[in-house]
Amino acid sequence: MRKIIFATGNEGKMREIRSILSDVQAEIISMKEAGIAVDIVEDGKTFEENAMIKAKRIAEEVSGEDVTVLADDSGLEVDYLNKEPGVYSARYLGEDTSYEVKNQNILQRLEGVPKQQRTARFVCAIAAVFANGETCVTRGTIEGYIGFQPAGENGFGYDPIFYVDEYNCSTAEMSEEMKNQLSHRGKALRAVKEKLD
Ligand code: IMP
Repeated sequence: MRKIIFATGNEGKMREIRSILSDVQAEIISMKEAGIAVDIVEDGKTFEENAMIKAKRIAEEVSGEDVTVLADDSGLEVDYLNKEPGVYSARYLGEDTSYEVKNQNILQRLEGVPKQQRTARFVCAIAAVFANGETCVTRGTIEGYIGFQPAGENGFGYDPIFYVDEYNCSTAEMSEEMKNQLSHRGKALRAVKEKLD
């Protein structure tokens, strides 16, 4: 059976990917399960560039095999902060800084800013490198705003401060299934799925 390697070590992401791609005829494995351990410098300026850098680097490791490599890059854009933290979302205030601190810092930077100016989005780009060398990139987004205080225990990263108007709650207050339905990663994955079919 055809193999799809997803360039992540994150178990949560792998669960989401396996669930969305469950009806694709392929064995879906993580980079770790494929026995690939490489350090990749994500020095692109856009989510798309970073996703493609990762996918191409992993593809080099499996060249000659019938394998499709997928890689993602994602982050939070806050309009009032000129789209920061953007591609630096994981590295914002330092990679080892807790999200409690990162989230409090963003809330402080938005102190006194009214709701209409607190618009933000999560963005996810997914790059695919096929066995024949062809490539493609998809993008998914979810629009929301930065709330006035953190809420919710689910999810990860910036979820407690990212609110979605239609649901009147943060993405950390949503169940995993609900977030997957709406999320930037879910949308980008469903778009890439069409290309895999
Ligand atoms: P990466 O795509 O794994 O490099 O992650 C980028 C960073 O963006 C994560 O470490 C989080 O800080 C943030 N991020 C991406 N997607 C989400 C999400 O769904 N919820 C909360 N934070 C996210």
